[in-house]
Amino acid sequence: MLQIDQLDIYYGMIHALKEVSLEVHEGEIVSLIGANGAGKSTLLKTISGLIKPKKGDIQYLGSSIAGKPAQGIVKVGISHVPEGRRVFANMSVEENLELGAYLRKDREGIRQDFKKVYDLFPRLFERKKQLSGTLSGGEQQMLAIGRAIMAKPKLLLLDEPSMGLAPIIVKSIFEIIEEINKEGTTILLVEQNANIALSVANRAYVLETGHVVLSGAAQEVRESELVKEAYLGGH
Ligand code: ATP
Repeated sequence: MLQIDQLDIYYGMIHALKEVSLEVHEGEIVSLIGANGAGKSTLLKTISGLIKPKKGDIQYLGSSIAGKPAQGIVKVGISHVPEGRRVFANMSVEENLELGAYLRKDREGIRQDFKKVYDLFPRLFERKKQLSGTLSGGEQQMLAIGRAIMAKPKLLLLDEPSMGLAPIIVKSIFEIIEEINKEGTTILLVEQNANIALSVANRAYVLETGHVVLSGAAQEVRESELVKEAYLGGH
């Protein structure tokens, strides 16, 4: 579904991604783990058209999307939930969700997806008229994911959904991520929390200072010495 080939990204003198190649197959959850500053967010931003690659290619469903504008990338079915959630604080839950569907014209489909999001996240239904800035961190994360689903993505890019949330909330958000995947959405997930990211993934990649240093089935990656020592605290 998604094939990234030899991608290089620079911020001025900083070489943030170095010949990164990665694949996501339809139906999978693929996790990308790595420390702070490894380049994980940069990779998602490049896929979703926020950063233009200097070198390398990104193929999606058989055509190149490298360097396409972000709006065009949403239109072909890729939604990005950025790090730090970024909901529109002065707008209600419902208005934030509506914005997720702003490129769509299929009224009936949008109505069904509102129902889908409210079924996945009953909390959002209870708070649909509430200003988003007054939601808890976990609820804002749910809203950010819900808003991305309103664009009807085939591929969902999630940047650190666990960030700053209590373990019990993280657990419930990851259960919903698995449910979204079971209902047919392919997922590329970026996480510093390697433990939970590897527990839901089919396959995983480890990124260190812009390089892919390891990849494979999630279970193999979890059992590697590198990951056990550097990312799972020796377990
Ligand atoms: P984090 O979890 O902290 O977001 P990350 O793995 O997602 O880490 P990136 O945010 O992709 O890492 O950053 C990769 C490298 O690029 C880092 O060295 C970072 O300092 C640098 N970088 C990221 N964004 C910019 C920017 N806008 N301008 C300059 N350098 C940047």
